[in-house]
Order: sequence, then structure tokens, then C-alpha cells
Amino acid sequence: MAGTKKKKGARINVGLLCTTCGKQNYVVMINKVNDPKLEIKKYCNQCRTHTLHKSKEKLK
Ligand SMILES: [Zn+2]
Repeated sequence: MAGTKKKKGARINVGLLCTTCGKQNYVVMINKVNDPKLEIKKYCNQCRTHTLHKSKEKLK
């Protein structure tokens, strides 16, 4: 099979928590080595606006 490259990285699933209300709104996959701490502005349906979301490693 051409073009299939398996790359093993430090990829993990993290939850994105709203820094305003603390609700976990998203789950994303990050590279632990490249992005140990992620901060993105995303829509929070609890705050009903875009807020800063921080990654949290602990996922059930
Ligand atoms: Zn919120």
C-alpha cells in the first residue's frame, strides 16, 4: 500500500474546558510533545459566547 505512513507520536485526547464556567465543551486530539498546553477561543454553549478554552488531560 503506497502512501500509508504510520507515525507514532505522543497523541492524546484532551478535553477543552471553558475558562469562564469550567464546562468541558470539546474533546480534541493533541500532540503532547508539541502542544502540552492548548488554549483556544471556542464557543461555549453554556456562556453562549466565545470564551477561552484550556486543555485538560484527564479524560474518562
Ligand atoms: Zn463557558
